[in-house]
Amino acid sequence: MIKDYPSYFEIFKCVGGSCKDSCCIGWELDIDDETFYKYRVVEGEFGKRLNEHMVDEKDAKYFRLRENKRCPMLNDDNLCDIILNLGEDALCTVCGEYPRYFVDLEGYTQIDLSLSCLEVGRLFFSSANTFSFKRKIEKENKTIFIADINQKEDGLSTLDPFLQEVIKKRDSEIALLQNRRKPFYLRLEELGYLNRFRSIFFDLNKNTVLEIKHEIISLCDEMEILEKRFPNYLMELRLLSDDEFFDLTSDFIAEHNAMCAGYFEKLATYLIFRYSLDVCFQCKRENIESFIDRSLCLILFLSMIHWKSNSFFIEDIIDIAHLYSKQVEHDETNVDILKRL
Ligand code: SF4
Repeated sequence: MIKDYPSYFEIFKCVGGSCKDSCCIGWELDIDDETFYKYRVVEGEFGKRLNEHMVDEKDAKYFRLRENKRCPMLNDDNLCDIILNLGEDALCTVCGEYPRYFVDLEGYTQIDLSLSCLEVGRLFFSSANTFSFKRKIEKENKTIFIADINQKEDGLSTLDPFLQEVIKKRDSEIALLQNRRKPFYLRLEELGYLNRFRSIFFDLNKNTVLEIKHEIISLCDEMEILEKRFPNYLMELRLLSDDEFFDLTSDFIAEHNAMCAGYFEKLATYLIFRYSLDVCFQCKRENIESFIDRSLCLILFLSMIHWKSNSFFIEDIIDIAHLYSKQVEHDETNVDILKRL
């Protein structure tokens, strides 16, 4: 078994009660069948409470959120009563895995962490260096090798040839993007498909910038709203005249060019790692490329709007990436909207 993951996977730790946007608030939590039936037979006062809040509908089993949108199992100290009463192993799959994200294919697992978790964002953006991706090779449940992904290509030979090609392409794109000996614009040019983002960030051709603005707004208008702040950002974007929008773009990029090059290099790397494997699930490569390109533009626009009335420091990009991830990545339909050709 081969497992690839970003280096911050090894150091991530949920901050629990001190999290500013707990994943146990605002999201309906699906309960997998196995856990659901285990919870059904929990006895005593806690078992009674657990069962009172579980919903069993035809197509879904889940915890009904309280009126204030909190998970009914989250206590006043923002700690999970299931962990406190039954232990961490008793969590359902969604709660036990989040913010980790697994893609399982024959002999291969890709593990990632979602930027919708603020603590992941903190680890992700706080180092000025590029982050590495690790490849772990396991045999009979024993680790026999761990190295950076680009140093251990030969371990891939046990995998399906198509999957090998997809992984190699993903890894070579990441290596290209992270090669800081070349300027960022050249790396984007060599990558060859983040053209919308590149033309905003480097070319600043007014007509192209406005075309992309209108395209992103009209796609976002079709999205289901998952993050309550998203419509306000969208409204502010829409209220700007084309001239105001173009001036804001030019000013933002001029003032934050170096900082943004670092942040957006990381974001592009994150998106390439996370979505390249979608071709193994009947998604065309062009759709993935469009998705990554548009996602970068959307994050850039959200950052600009945020900066207009706030600031743009590291905590701001962590928050914006978190907003993007909650709004887009947590809904297949929203992802598909940005994938559209
Ligand atoms: S969002 Fe992240 S840090 Fe916050 S409670 Fe969830 S897993 Fe923990």
